Amino acid sequence: MPLSLPPEKAELGQAFAAVLKPGQRVCLTTHVNPDGDGLGSEVGLVHLLRAQGIDAVITNPSPTPPRFSFLFQDLPGVDRTAEAVKELRRADLIIVLDISDITRLGMLIETVRERRVPVACVDHHVSAGILPAGPRYVDPGAAATGELIFELAKANGWPVTQQVARALYVAILTDTGGFRFSNTRPRTLRVAADLLETGVDPEQIYLEVYARAPEGRPRLLAEALQTLVVEPEYGLAWVTVPPGSIERHGVSSDDLDGVVEFPRSIEGVRMALLFREIAQGRVKVSLRSIGDVDVAAFAKTYGGGGHTKAAGLSLTGTLAEVQATVLRAARAYLGSDGVGSRESGVGSQGEKRSSI
Ligand code: 5GP
Ligand code: MN
Repeated sequence: MPLSLPPEKAELGQAFAAVLKPGQRVCLTTHVNPDGDGLGSEVGLVHLLRAQGIDAVITNPSPTPPRFSFLFQDLPGVDRTAEAVKELRRADLIIVLDISDITRLGMLIETVRERRVPVACVDHHVSAGILPAGPRYVDPGAAATGELIFELAKANGWPVTQQVARALYVAILTDTGGFRFSNTRPRTLRVAADLLETGVDPEQIYLEVYARAPEGRPRLLAEALQTLVVEPEYGLAWVTVPPGSIERHGVSSDDLDGVVEFPRSIEGVRMALLFREIAQGRVKVSLRSIGDVDVAAFAKTYGGGGHTKAAGLSLTGTLAEVQATVLRAARAYLGSDGVGSRESGVGSQGEKRSSI
């Protein structure tokens, strides 16, 4: 049973596409450190737009991680990230995918802000931000932005070829953690089924995305896991990426994908964190939760955002300073809703924390 689109979504999808005209130069972009959803959605949409006679290119604020480069094999010259600013300056339209917030565009913030062209957006995040005006196709109920690109194709009668399907399958596969997370709805699996109907090989995609890792990835994981700290009294667990370890293992931050699932996997943990220095004096925190803990709301208080059960933020300070601030707040947050802490949350943490 192929996916059927509710009439209001079909209308919204058609209204979104009304700004697209053959011959236009369109730049697609996504958040810093692009992930499988951002890149898969971009590549899927590039194929769809090119089939409509639109000259679409990809201009991201940071480079494509090697494990997603297979998506670009049949799109020579489309990943224009190295010349992103130049390309954005000549675009007729900009489409931002997998974020609704200009502050996540890294080195491209000013260029996108200054352009006087429409900035369209397709996104599934709960935390809305600010973007220059343009059409929107946003649904926080979608598991991945890739799911929404599929809906746009359906709404407009654009053919979903095997090339499109492969990219969108990568988007959905990665953002659902391999169809395991709570965002995996019946609808998500219906979209995935339609994608597989085009002949896409799920094992081939699995191998490309998850089984062609550089040796440094498991070695980095091993180092990060050595830092695990668990505070059962709060349902809190965290790991820290040792400074310099990414470079030492010759990998990139993309190779940390999934590491935060390890602290989250511990019985009784309700909030898991991953700390990483992204620059001198700047620390990124990845947050994951179990049950009713809303990490998007937590992240928002520090200028971050994301989804209810997967969010992120970055703060200025040393690793130790940011850890102290965020962990103190996390303990208070988990204790405050009455289900996180079995104790009042004051004192005795030193004895109770277990470090492996
Ligand atoms: P991750 O921890 O895997 O980088 O990100 C988890 C989720 O949180 C993703 O949906 C991502 O877009 C969002 N996220 C991560 N870092 C930030 C941030 O600094 N600001 C905002 N607004 N969202 C973030
Ligand atoms: Mn996403």
